[in-house]
Amino acid sequence: MKLRRTKHDGWYEIQSQCPICGHKGWCRINREQTIVHCMRVPSDDHFDSVIGRQFRHYLDPNAVPKTKVEIEVNKVVDKKPDYHLNRVYRALLKELPLSPMHYSHLLNDRLMEENVVQIREYRTMPVQERYKVAKSVISRLSDSSDLLGVPGFFCQEGKYGAYWTMAGGTGLMIPFRTISNEITGWQIRVDNPPLELDMKGAIKGEILEELPRDESGKRRAKCSLKVQDKTLIVELTEKDKKVCMSSASGQFVFSVELKQGQRYWWWSSGSKDNGASIGGPLPVHLALPSPCLKYWTVGDTADAIFDCSEVWVTEGPLKADKAADGLLKPVFGIPGAGAFSLLLEPLKALGCKHIIFAYDADVVNTPEVEMALGQCVEFFARETDMKLSLAMWDISLGKGIDDLLDNGYLPQVSTLLE
Ligand SMILES: [Zn+2]
Repeated sequence: MKLRRTKHDGWYEIQSQCPICGHKGWCRINREQTIVHCMRVPSDDHFDSVIGRQFRHYLDPNAVPKTKVEIEVNKVVDKKPDYHLNRVYRALLKELPLSPMHYSHLLNDRLMEENVVQIREYRTMPVQERYKVAKSVISRLSDSSDLLGVPGFFCQEGKYGAYWTMAGGTGLMIPFRTISNEITGWQIRVDNPPLELDMKGAIKGEILEELPRDESGKRRAKCSLKVQDKTLIVELTEKDKKVCMSSASGQFVFSVELKQGQRYWWWSSGSKDNGASIGGPLPVHLALPSPCLKYWTVGDTADAIFDCSEVWVTEGPLKADKAADGLLKPVFGIPGAGAFSLLLEPLKALGCKHIIFAYDADVVNTPEVEMALGQCVEFFARETDMKLSLAMWDISLGKGIDDLLDNGYLPQVSTLLE
C-alpha cells in the first residue's frame, strides 16, 4: 500500500487502491491499518470534512494480509496564508505569458471575448526555463524565502546548488479567487493529459510508451497486456475499444481502451523539496461577471460591489467564469461535487440566502452526485438557513451550464430545501 502523510498525525492518504472502494486517492487509513476513512463507500459511521464526507470502516486486523507500507515522507512545507499566496501569485501573473494556442482556445473553443480573457488573467505554464520565471518572481518580492509554502514552487538541486523552479504539467493556468479577490491557487488544464488504460474483466496491463499520433491526430501507445497467462505487446489507439467475447459461450471476457486521463490538475508541489501542497483546505473559486472585476479591490468581499444574495455553484473554475458572465450572477467553482462544505464560510461571509447547484447534465443522475447532493442538503440544513436549489436541463441542450448558456438556454431551477 502506498501512503502519503496528511495534516492529521497518524493518518495517511491511500495512494494505491483503497481496501474498501478499490479506487486510488482521497481515502485515508490510520497508521495501525485498522481503520479506513473511505470517501466513496458509505457506512453509518461518518463525518464531514473539508475534502467531503468520510465514511469510517473497520478492518479486521487478522483477516487483512498486511502489505508492506511505503510511506512517502516528503519535506513538505505548510501552505502560507491567503494574503501571502495572493502576493506571490500576483507577482507570477506579471511574469507568465498566455500562449497564442491557449488564447485561441479561450476565444474559439470557450467562446470568450478578448477583453474577458484579459481581465480574467489566464496564463500559460511554459515547457522550458521555468527557473527563469521563478527568479523573476523572486525579484518582485522581498526575498527567495517568500516562495516557501507557496504551492507550485519548489527547490531543485543543480550543479551550483539549489534553485527555485515550478512544478506541474504544461497547459492553461486558471486562477482561483477568494471572496476577497485574493488569488490563492491555480488549476492547470494540461495540454497532454496522461494516457490511461481502461480495463474490464479478465485482463491486466500497462502502458509502456506513447507513440506518435495517427493520421487523424488520435494518441497511440505501446502497451503490455496480460490475458490469462499470456503477455501480449500491442499498439492501442485512443477511443478504439477492444472487446473480447468467448467464442464458445458468447460471454464477455474482457475489454480494454486507451483513454486520456485527467485534464485539470491542481498546481501543487507537495511531493517536492521545499514544495507545498495545495490542500488543507483546497481553494474554491468565486467568479463574478467580468465587468465587475476591475472594480473589485483585493481585500473587499464581493458583496461590497455585487449582489450575492443568490449564488450559483458549479464544478471547475473555467465553467464558473463562463457561467458568471452568462447568468450575471456570482458563481463558485468547487473542485468536486462532494466538496460543498468548503463553501460554508465563504457563503456566510457573502450573506448568501439562496444557493443554486448547477452540475453537468450527464453527472446529475450518477449515484456519486446524487449521494453528494443528499449530503449537501443535510449539511446546509444543519449549518444554515439558506435556501438550496438544483439547476437542471436536458443534456441535448448542452452538457455543462456553460454550454447550455452558450446555446442560448437557461436551466430549470427546482428547490431542494426551502
Ligand atoms: Zn475508499
